Amino acid sequence: MVEAGCDGHPDGCPEAGPGRAFYVSVRSGDRAGCLAGPYATHSEALAAVDLVRVMAEQADPRAAFYGFGTCQAPDTARPVFGLVRRMEPQ
Ligand SMILES: [Zn+2]
Repeated sequence: MVEAGCDGHPDGCPEAGPGRAFYVSVRSGDRAGCLAGPYATHSEALAAVDLVRVMAEQADPRAAFYGFGTCQAPDTARPVFGLVRRMEPQ
């Protein structure tokens, strides 16, 4: 499932269950996949969405038309961009 943000989790973000983790996901039409992760928490994955979107657009200009969000998937998934983290402001 692709989510735009945590508005869908007013009572708190879901925990990734056993063997599950959060990922930054991409969707284009009926196709969807994980681009970055695994993250232990939903908020970590959400924090990386903007950066992953930039990386994806640099890798493929068509990504500008894709939808980005987060998903849960088995924690054995190894997305193309790996574990992307936003740089902390200096
Ligand atoms: Zn959430």
